[in-house]
Amino acid sequence: MKVIGSIVEMHKASLDLRNKRKSIGFVPTMGALHKGHTSLIEKAKKDNDVVILSIFVNPTQFTAGEDYHSYPRDIEKDKTTASDSGIDYLFLPSTDEMYPEGYKTFVNVEDITEPLCGKFRLGHFKGVATVVLKLFNIIKPHKAYFGEKDYQQLLVIRMMARDLNLDIEIINMPTIREGNGIAMSSRNRYLNQKEMVSAAAIYKALKISQEMVKDSERISQKIITEMERVIKNEEGIKIDYISICDPDTLEDVKIINDRALIAIAVRIGNARLIDNCIVEVR
Ligand code: AMP
Repeated sequence: MKVIGSIVEMHKASLDLRNKRKSIGFVPTMGALHKGHTSLIEKAKKDNDVVILSIFVNPTQFTAGEDYHSYPRDIEKDKTTASDSGIDYLFLPSTDEMYPEGYKTFVNVEDITEPLCGKFRLGHFKGVATVVLKLFNIIKPHKAYFGEKDYQQLLVIRMMARDLNLDIEIINMPTIREGNGIAMSSRNRYLNQKEMVSAAAIYKALKISQEMVKDSERISQKIITEMERVIKNEEGIKIDYISICDPDTLEDVKIINDRALIAIAVRIGNARLIDNCIVEVR
C-alpha cells in the first residue's frame, strides 16, 4: 500500500493510473475505520483494478460546537486496517493543503440539504459536498463508494454528481451493524457500555416501524409516536428527529403509499447517532 500525503503526488499517481487504463475505485472516509468502511473497500476491490482510500477529518463539515477536535483519530491502526484490507493507495491530505489560507469556494446543493440533519447541522452538507468534490478532483475515480447509513449525505453526493456532470459512478452500500443492531460508526467510540445498550433502542425503533408498515399501518405520525415511545423508554437518549419522508426529495410523507425513508437522529452522551431504513408498500 502506498501512502500519499500531498495533493500533487496524488494527482500524479491518479493520472498515471488513468493513463495505464486502470479503473479507480475510491472510498472517502474520516478514519477510525470499522467494518462499515471495510465493506465499502471490499466492494470497491471487486469492481475496480485499483482502490484508493482517503482519511481526512474534514473541518468544514463540523458546525460550531461539534466534535471536530475530539473526533476519533487512530491513524496507525487505520493504516494497518487499510493495508490488511488490500487498499492500493491511502491518501492522507493535510488540512492546510486542503484549505489553505484564503480558501473561498464551497459547493451548495439546494433543498435536500435542508431537512433532517440539515436542520440540526447548519452548513454540514456544504462542507461534505465541498470536500467530496475536492477529493474527486484530486483522485479522479471512476467509481466512488458511500454507505446508506448516511442516507442524506449519499443523496447530496448523487445530486452533486448529477448536477455538476461528474463522470463518476456513485455506488451505495448497505449499513453494517453490531450484533445488537447498532449501526457501526466511528462515533460509537464515544459510548460507554451503558450508553451502548441504550443505543440499541434506535434499531429497535426502526424494526418496530418496519413491522408496523408490514401490519398495514400507513399513517406516519402513528409510527413516529410509537418509535418515540420506544426511544424514550431508554435512559439518556435525546431525539433530534424522527422523520418519515420521500426517499428522493426527503419531503415529509404523511401517508405511506409506496416507498418511504424512515430516518432517525439521536444524542446519547457525547455522541450524535443517525440511522435509517426504507419501507415499501405494494
Ligand atoms: P465516515 O468515516 O463516517 O465519514 O464514513 C465514510 C463512509 O463510510 C461513508 O460513505 C459512510 O456512509 C460509510 N459508513 C459509515 N458507517 C457505515 C456502516 N455502518 N455501514 C456502511 N457504511 C458505513
